[in-house]
Amino acid sequence: MTCVDCVAGVEHCHGTLVGSEGCTEPGCEDLSADRHPLVIEAAEVDSPRHLVATAA
Ligand SMILES: [Zn+2]
Ligand SMILES: [Zn+2]
Repeated sequence: MTCVDCVAGVEHCHGTLVGSEGCTEPGCEDLSADRHPLVIEAAEVDSPRHLVATAA
């Protein structure tokens, strides 16, 4: 997998940083948001209201 950060040689992670849950990338030890292009707030994951609204 290659992204713009790979090309630029920037230290980063291809996993998704999920709020306080951490990173989805196994072995990822640096959980700083700076090196994670993909960041999801935990509140978005925990709240089912979006799904309910869509179903209704
Ligand atoms: Zn990359
Ligand atoms: Zn990561």
